[in-house]
Amino acid sequence: MPDTYDYDVLVIGAGPGGYVAAIRAAQLGLKTACAESRETLGGTCLNVGCIPSKAMLHASEYFDAAANGTMAKMGIVVEPKLDLETMHAQRREAVTQLTGGIEFLFKKNKVDWKKGLATFVNPHTVTVGGETVTAKNVIIATGSSVTPLKGVEVDNAKQVVVDSTGALELASVPKRMVVIGGGVIGLELGSVWRRLGAEVTVVEFLDQLLPGMDMDVRKEAAKIFKKQGMKLMLSTKVTGCNVKGKSASLTVEPAAGGEAQTLEADCVLVSIGRRPNTDGLGLDKIGLELNQRGQIETDHDFRTKVDGVWAIGDVIPGPMLAHKAEDEGIACAENIAGQTGIVNHAVIPGVVYTWPEIAGVGLTEEQAKEQGEVKIGKFPMLANSRAKTNHEPDGFVKVIADAATDRVLGVWCIASVAGTMIAEAAQAMEFGATSEDIAYTCHAHPTHSEAIKEAAMAVQGKPIHI
Ligand code: FAD
Ligand code: NAD
Repeated sequence: MPDTYDYDVLVIGAGPGGYVAAIRAAQLGLKTACAESRETLGGTCLNVGCIPSKAMLHASEYFDAAANGTMAKMGIVVEPKLDLETMHAQRREAVTQLTGGIEFLFKKNKVDWKKGLATFVNPHTVTVGGETVTAKNVIIATGSSVTPLKGVEVDNAKQVVVDSTGALELASVPKRMVVIGGGVIGLELGSVWRRLGAEVTVVEFLDQLLPGMDMDVRKEAAKIFKKQGMKLMLSTKVTGCNVKGKSASLTVEPAAGGEAQTLEADCVLVSIGRRPNTDGLGLDKIGLELNQRGQIETDHDFRTKVDGVWAIGDVIPGPMLAHKAEDEGIACAENIAGQTGIVNHAVIPGVVYTWPEIAGVGLTEEQAKEQGEVKIGKFPMLANSRAKTNHEPDGFVKVIADAATDRVLGVWCIASVAGTMIAEAAQAMEFGATSEDIAYTCHAHPTHSEAIKEAAMAVQGKPIHI
C-alpha cells in the first residue's frame, strides 16, 4: 500500500449517508472525494425516495382535503380539479433544487465529486469513471434498491407494473391500483394515488400492515386506511402476474395456501422491501463478505473487517432510513478523524407520512414486555383540543415506560403531525427521560404535542382531559 494517498477519505455513494459523511469529513479537515454513479447527488432519498414521495403526498393531501369534505367542514367549498402535470412538475422542481443544493455544499466544503460507478481494486484503491483514486479510508455508502418479486416483472416505462420510482411518475391516475406489500412505500404511494382517485387494493403477505411497528398502531392504521377506502387483503400472497397491454391480471391466494382469485389492475406497485447495493463494488477484491441478508457488517464505529474500509446507511444492518444513514455518516467521519462518533441505534424514530402520520421510536409494547414489566399510557387524539378543532379525530399516542424505573422505552403516535411530534419523544429518550419528566414538561396549548404529555400522565393513571 502507498504511504501517500490522493485522499484521506473516499466515500462511495452520495445518498444521505454518503454526502453527509463526505461533508463532515471535509469539515474536519480531511481531504475528501465522493463517488456517485447517478447524474445528480442525494441518492435514493433526494432523487426517487423521501423527497419526491413527500412532494406527491403533500400535494395530494390538499387535493384530498378539498375532495373528501374536510375543507367544506371549515366553510371552504371547492371542487378540486387535478392538474397532474403541474403536480409532477413541482415534485421534479423540489428534487432539482435539493440535489443541486448538495452539489453546492460539496463545492463549498471542497468535496470532489467523482462521477461514475466505483469498484475496488484493493482496500485503498478504487476505479471510478475511468480514473484510479487512492484513499487512506474508504466509506461504502452505496445504499439499497428495490427487492424484485419473482413472476411480477417491473417495467417502469410501461407504467403497468412499477416500483416506487415508477409509481412517482405515473402520467395518469390509474383506475385500479394493486399495491403488493403493505409496508411504508405501499401505504405512502398507495395513499397518493387513492387520494387522486384510484381504487387501491393492498395485498400484504403478513396478517397486519407495517411490520416492525407497535401492534396497536398496526391495527389502528389498518382501520384508518380501510375507512379511507383502501381495500386491504392481509395474509395474502401474489402467485402470478399477466400483463396485457395497459392492464395486469394478478393471481392471489391466502398466504397459508387455499383458493386462488384474480385481481385486475391498471397499475401494480411492487413494494415488498429494499436490498443492499453491493453489485459491481468488487468486494471480492478486498475480501469483504456479506451477511445472510446481503448486508455489510460493521462494528460500533462503522469499521468493516477490512482495515481502512468503513460502511454506513442502507447497505449495513438496521432500519433503511435517511436520518439513520445521515447520523451514521457523521459518526463514521468523526471516527475516521480520531473523534468519538456514536449513533444510538435504540433511539431512531420512524415515520410513515400518510394521513394521519404514523410514527414511533424505541421499543414496541411487545418488545418491551419481553424485557420486563411495563406501564403504558395512552391518549386518543379525539381528546386533544387542537386535533379535534382541526377535524383530525383519528389516532392516539402511546407511551411505554419501565414499570420499576419509569424510564420511557418507546413512544408511538398516530396523528396528523405525528412525524413532528415524535422528535420530542426521541429527544426525551436520548436524555433518559422518565414518563414523569415528560408529564411535568410544560407543553404549549393548543398543540397536538399535548397528547404526548397526556399519554405520559396516563402512565401514572392521571391524564386530565380524558
Ligand atoms: P442511498 O440513498 O441509496 O444512496 C446510495 C447512492 O450510492 C446512490 O445514489 C447510488 O447511485 C450510489 N451508488 C451505489 N453503488 C455505487 C457505486 N459502486 N459507485 C458509485 N455510486 C454508487 N427514508 C426516510 O428516512 N424518510 C422517508 O420519508 C423515506 N422515504 C422513502 C421513499 C421511497 C420511495 C424510498 C424508495 C425510500 C425512502 N426512504 C425514506 C429511505 C431512504 O431513501 C434511504 O434509507 C436512504 O436514501 C439511504 O441512504 P444511503 O445513503 O444509505 O443510500
Ligand atoms: P417494507 O419492508 O416497509 O414493507 C414491505 C412489505 O411487503 C412488508 O409488509 C412485507 O410483509 C410485505 N411483503 C414482502 N413480501 C411480500 C410478498 N411477496 N407479497 C406481499 N407482501 C409482501 O418495504 P418497502 O415499503 O418496500 O420500503 C422499503 C424501505 O424503504 C423500508 O425499509 C423503509 O424503511 C424505507 N422507506 C421509508 C419511508 C419512510 O421513512 N417514510 C418511506 C418509504 C420507504
